[in-house]
Amino acid sequence: MTRSLDPSSVELATRLGVQAGVGVVTAVEQLSPTIRSITLSGVSALAGVPGNDVMLEVMNEGRPARRRYSVRSVDVDRDELTLWIAVGHNGPGARLALNTTVGTELDVVGPRGKIPLDPMADWHLFVGDSSSLGAFYRMAESIEEPGRAIFIVETDHPDDALTPTLPEGIGATGIFVNKHNEAGNATALMHGLAAFAFPQDEGHAYLFGEFSTNKAIRTALLDRGLSDEQISFKAFWRAGSANADHGEPKKD
Ligand SMILES: Cc1cc2nc3c(=O)[nH]c(=O)nc-3n(C[C@H](O)[C@H](O)[C@H](O)COP(=O)(O)OP(=O)(O)OC[C@H]3O[C@@H](n4cnc5c(N)ncnc54)[C@H](O)[C@@H]3O)c2cc1C
Repeated sequence: MTRSLDPSSVELATRLGVQAGVGVVTAVEQLSPTIRSITLSGVSALAGVPGNDVMLEVMNEGRPARRRYSVRSVDVDRDELTLWIAVGHNGPGARLALNTTVGTELDVVGPRGKIPLDPMADWHLFVGDSSSLGAFYRMAESIEEPGRAIFIVETDHPDDALTPTLPEGIGATGIFVNKHNEAGNATALMHGLAAFAFPQDEGHAYLFGEFSTNKAIRTALLDRGLSDEQISFKAFWRAGSANADHGEPKKD
């Protein structure tokens, strides 16, 4: 028998109009120096659509807080969902991922998130970092054939350049760049973006990652002719400051 939910998780899910459940960790794998995969059973109904995330309860200096993680994959038959969590920094979410073992029970609230795949786009440009790969790859794996996925991703370590399993009829381009020494500096991703020639047909860009980097990349994409409607962006974290207890980075 799994333990019961913390009442605050039930309250949060009710307020957000989503579900809450206790997920039991069934697998933990260090996929690369920075990316740790955590599989939870019992909460696959909370996975939503590609691009959605779930909130995990974490302890932050003795008080409960939430951290959001995109769903990397779902196995409905096994009632499991998998998260890819970046652990190359020090924070309550990263510590939770590092300390989690098979059998750990976690409060999960979801689905969250408002950025699904644009079904009308011919090509999909994903720009971000190690924390974005789970969302990017689940979204890309749901692209209908024929379609194209382009990934421009900044990694802490060359071995963090993990790859997705795309359907055969999907064209894929991956441009992985080494992380700039200073977090929140978009220079490395800008170089990656400069190496990419936009196809003629309709595209959509998804920017998930560091707050200031996202903003700089969005401006660069607008300068290169993409419209506002063609760009979806969401800050996952912010250089120099921890996310708030509800899981969001500061916006001002
Ligand atoms: C909608 C949404 C979906 C998300 N999906 C994912 C996901 O699938 N996988 C994932 O790993 N993260 C994801 N995140 C980001 C994750 O929730 C944040 O990175 C979170 O801040 C990490 O929490 P933490 O407690 O480890 O660090 P915090 O307490 O938030 O921060 C501590 C310190 O670490 C720094 N920091 C935080 N994150 C990073 C990072 N990735 N790289 C370098 N430095 C960092 C901060 O600037 C701060 O100085 C998502 C965030 C949102 C809002």
